[in-house]
Amino acid sequence: MQGREPCDCRFESYWGHMQLSTPIEEIPRVGPQIQKKLRRLGIKTVKDLIFHFPHRYEDFSNIIPISEIQQNQTVSTKGKILDIKNIRTFRKRMTLTQALIGDETGQIQVMWFNQPYLINTFKKGDFLFLSGKTNKKGSKTYLSSPAYERISDINLNHSDLTHTGRLVPVYPGTEGLSSRWLRFLIKPILMRMRNEIKDALPKELKTKYKLLDFKTAIWQIHFPDSLKEAETAKKRFVFEELIILSLFILNERLKMRQEKAFAIPIDLKLVQEFAKNLPFQLTDDQRKASWQILKDLEKPRPMNRLLEGDVGSGKTVVSAMAALNTAKAGFQTVFMAPTEILVKQHYHTFNIALKKYRLKIGLITGKENRLQNKKVKRKDILEKASKGKIDILIGTHALIQKEVKFGKLALVIIDEQHRFGIDQRAKLCQNQQTKTIPHLLSMTATPIPRTLTLTIYGDLDLSLIKELPKGRKKIITEIVPPLARKKAYDFIREQIKKGRQVFVICPRIEPTKSENGKATNWDEVKAVKEEYEKLKKEIFPEFKIAMLHGKMKNEEKERIMKKFKNGKTDILVSTSVIEVGIDIPNASVMAIEGADKFGLAQLHQFRGRVGRGKEQSFCLFLTDFQSQTVNRRLKALIKCENGFDLAEKDLVIRGPGDLSGQRQWGVPDMTMAALKNIEMVEEARNEAKAILQNDPEMKKNPLLRTKLEEFQRRIHLE
Ligand code: ADP
Ligand code: MG
Repeated sequence: MQGREPCDCRFESYWGHMQLSTPIEEIPRVGPQIQKKLRRLGIKTVKDLIFHFPHRYEDFSNIIPISEIQQNQTVSTKGKILDIKNIRTFRKRMTLTQALIGDETGQIQVMWFNQPYLINTFKKGDFLFLSGKTNKKGSKTYLSSPAYERISDINLNHSDLTHTGRLVPVYPGTEGLSSRWLRFLIKPILMRMRNEIKDALPKELKTKYKLLDFKTAIWQIHFPDSLKEAETAKKRFVFEELIILSLFILNERLKMRQEKAFAIPIDLKLVQEFAKNLPFQLTDDQRKASWQILKDLEKPRPMNRLLEGDVGSGKTVVSAMAALNTAKAGFQTVFMAPTEILVKQHYHTFNIALKKYRLKIGLITGKENRLQNKKVKRKDILEKASKGKIDILIGTHALIQKEVKFGKLALVIIDEQHRFGIDQRAKLCQNQQTKTIPHLLSMTATPIPRTLTLTIYGDLDLSLIKELPKGRKKIITEIVPPLARKKAYDFIREQIKKGRQVFVICPRIEPTKSENGKATNWDEVKAVKEEYEKLKKEIFPEFKIAMLHGKMKNEEKERIMKKFKNGKTDILVSTSVIEVGIDIPNASVMAIEGADKFGLAQLHQFRGRVGRGKEQSFCLFLTDFQSQTVNRRLKALIKCENGFDLAEKDLVIRGPGDLSGQRQWGVPDMTMAALKNIEMVEEARNEAKAILQNDPEMKKNPLLRTKLEEFQRRIHLE
């Protein structure tokens, strides 16, 4: 079907009817098959087609006469079809379309494979423009499956070309929807419709930042005159997206400021006493963060704060202080964490740290409910919570279900937020009987690079804990190539003999899909079992080894963790389930199998599981093969102990995809990639700020406002 399209477009009689909002179904020659594929790309209207941007370009701009064509070259040339025929090759079961093309300087063979219909697309005597790679058959050079374009006049203006003889756009497509077809569709639409779209960017900004106007940019991004022009066009669209993203974020902040929250007075004596009674001294950063939080809670509008601190920096105690102050003022706190094990750990920590204050602290997970450390019925706990009789409720997702209601919920604490999702607050609020919105404290050990805190996390205020508690020793990190493995095992043996404990993390395995399409992590379980058997039988038969994986029953997981925590197990072999938050001071070695398969940030997280006690700790990256690139990547971790620097590195290496997680909000990839560019991000943010400051309703920028509203609608639908 594809490739059959005529080179000239036959939309003429439809132009009168076409609008930006015209659905693709009404575009001539777009049949049900193509419609389906376009819809899969999110293209529903003519306008969507215009905004479907190429992700790269094929450079076919080297146009030369036939006589100058050489082997192994990407070239463009034009000529007359002197001969054309289909040949069947029975051995390889395919059709060869063979043509001879000539111009005034010479002749060249052209071969297309498996496109027999071409013989009907053009005939002897037609003029063709061709672009593609040359190849050799015997001593003869031929053009192999080139892109082609029939031209009516050999002397045509080259800028009229679409598929050949220029920089040709290549579109992100789905199977069976070629870039050729998309170009065929998009180009005539673009020619007629680009005048219909008004430029949303204010003139001053375009002048100030030397941005192309819309009409030029939209043409240049699809059919650029040069790669530089394409880049300039792209910058213009990215800048616009960044402005809209910034407007959105700043607006969200303003909206939040207008909401009401319970104002929680600071009980200075209480918090000072709490700090004094801790078995350690708070670090300056912890103190500063606590104060920022308490000051926020004091205000009658919702706090929106992100507490960022490297693994082991002591975020929990900061949140406990906030929860204590909240409880003593007569309000409730919810604390959500992503895993059962973590919830239990936090429950334990809170119970100990707040013991003296006789608070009612509850625990809710899918499996278990506790109050004052005793097992209770879920129904009881829910009833008490709804009456405001539980001060602090700690739990997993089980917390955000319909039946969970609160009497006086004032503070929501979320641990490891990009796993949990910040939007959960909205769900908690639905159940609130008062008209207030709870304060939000979101905690993460994954440092977020500055460009992201300004943009997609820009609605949150930041508290940073940069320093680790005093007395922590630097973790010694080593890369262990296959040959050094035995030495590493000996080292681990020594450590255990000294009374330490060891984590072994198994390689990451992509979940396989089972028949019903659901992801299973069966392979991961298998990998853990194998590693466990290997260590137990072959390497460390003298030690107590346990394993942990996501498929185990929760009780079993708890039992194993507890045993490890109590020092009854020497080695814990595990999948990445122990990734977040687990606190075991006596563990001094973190060995990561297949370290090359993890991202830097995640490796850093694993490493943070050790080094919490008084002893020197070690992190071993065991790799299966030795390679320069692997080593270079891992070495970044040896040099870099600071998660913040690492985040910037990860951003450069991998882009913001992982960090943005569910906060991607359908922002185009192009813009996500631009989030690496701090300068542009800052410029856009400052301009957005200025726009809102001078004109909060955006009356002077109605087009930009419409775009902002579209963006808001998109997000609220998600
Ligand atoms: P994270 O920030 O990774 O959540 P935790 O809150 O789990 O870290 O704290 C890690 C460990 O450090 C805990 O055992 C905690 O009791 C301890 N800790 C917290 N603050 C301090 C401090 N100022 N001095 C010493 N130890 C601390
Ligand atoms: Mg933590």
